This record gives sequence, structure tokens and C-alpha cells, in this order.
Amino acid sequence: MQRQKMVKDQIEARGINNPDVLRAMLRVEREKFVPAKLKNDAYGDYPLPIGEGQTISQPYIVALMTQLLGPSKDKKILEIGTGSGYQAAVLSEIFGEVYTIEIIPSLAEKAKKRFKELGYLNIYTKTGDGYQGWAEHAPYDGIIVTCASSDIPQPLKDQLKVGGKMVIPVGSGYAQQLEVVTKNKGRYVKRNIVPVMFVPMKNEKGEKY
Ligand code: SAH
Repeated sequence: MQRQKMVKDQIEARGINNPDVLRAMLRVEREKFVPAKLKNDAYGDYPLPIGEGQTISQPYIVALMTQLLGPSKDKKILEIGTGSGYQAAVLSEIFGEVYTIEIIPSLAEKAKKRFKELGYLNIYTKTGDGYQGWAEHAPYDGIIVTCASSDIPQPLKDQLKVGGKMVIPVGSGYAQQLEVVTKNKGRYVKRNIVPVMFVPMKNEKGEKY
């Protein structure tokens, strides 16, 4: 089966070993999150276009970012950049509650419909600018940002629990680093993970952060 092969060859082979992450990647039907004409590519080792100039990330990057959040049923996670909804679906298999924000209304609507159809009951969606976070449900145990920002958004730092982790691609243009920011009492500790290439985070006027 294509999905099992993807998990073995692209994910386990690159060192992802958290059992919850592997289980979630085996369960979520990625072909349901890509445009119909790209279904045959759903398990390819690369990102795919999802419309509006946006992309669904490479499966390995989804798995890596999920593992970096520290899987646990009692955690509440905030995602910035719902896109197709695939990353949120993977998170929802592992974490207790998933809050996800998308700035492009047509993508947000489509993802919301998908979650309903596929029976994901612990995903809460919002259309808007994720740079500002979602204060109403804060603080979060983990925050995952799936679009690149030139700085680490202060509202997201504020909405992270002490002891919580944010996984975020930082940098402008194509030179981005995936970073893990851990919030300790009174200070933040940053760790660089790998170079990555994400679409930019933009505000409601379409300007890049
Ligand atoms: N996690 C997605 C991949 C998302 S691509 C998936 O699994 O398919 C990045 C997404 O971030 C795009 O859909 C883009 O529209 C969105 N985005 C960009 N800037 C944003 C912002 N300020 N707030 C929320 N979403 C944003």
C-alpha cells in the first residue's frame, strides 16, 4: 500500500521514530487532502500545489514538525496555515485539541468541510491572520507555523504556555530555518533544526511578514 511505503521509505528511513507520529501518518488519507487531479502523487516525496498559490508540505516535513511538538493526548495545539488541512488532521490523531487558522477564506472553507466529512471532531477552524494567534483559546502547549515569517510573532510567543514549544520556519525568501522555540520562565531557547522552504506568512493586505 502506498501509504505504508511512504511511512517506511520517507519517514522512518529519515529517523522519525515516535510511534504516535508513525501511527498518525499511517492513518490519515493524504489523497483526500490534495486536488483530485493530483491524487496519483499524494504519496510522493515532495510538496504539492493546493490552489491559490499555496502548497501542502512534503510528508516528511509534516512528520518532523509533528514529532518536534512532543506528541501527547493532553496537549492543545495551535496551527497557523491550515492550507489543505492535512497537517491539522495528522495533529488531531495525536493531540487532544487542534486549533487552526487560515488567512485565505476559500482554503479555510474547504478544509473545514473536509474535517466535517472525515469526522475530525477535535479540530477548530478560524479564518484570519494567524500572526495574531487565537487569544481566546490560549495558552497552547504547542504552536506549529506552516508558513514562513521573518521574525517569531510576539503574539504567538505570548500565547504559548511556559514549558511549551513552537515549531516555525523563520526567514524571508528561500533561506529559511525550521526552528523550535521553547518558552521557559522568562526566556526563550531557540534551536535550529533544518533548512526548509515554506510559502510566506502574509497579512490581510497580502504583505509578507
Ligand atoms: N499546513 C498546510 C500547508 C500550508 S501552506 C497543509 O497541511 O496543507 C501555508 C498556508 O499558510 C497557506 O494556505 C497560506 O494561505 C497560509 N497563510 C499564510 N499567511 C497566513 C497568516 N498570516 N495566517 C494564517 N494562514 C496564513
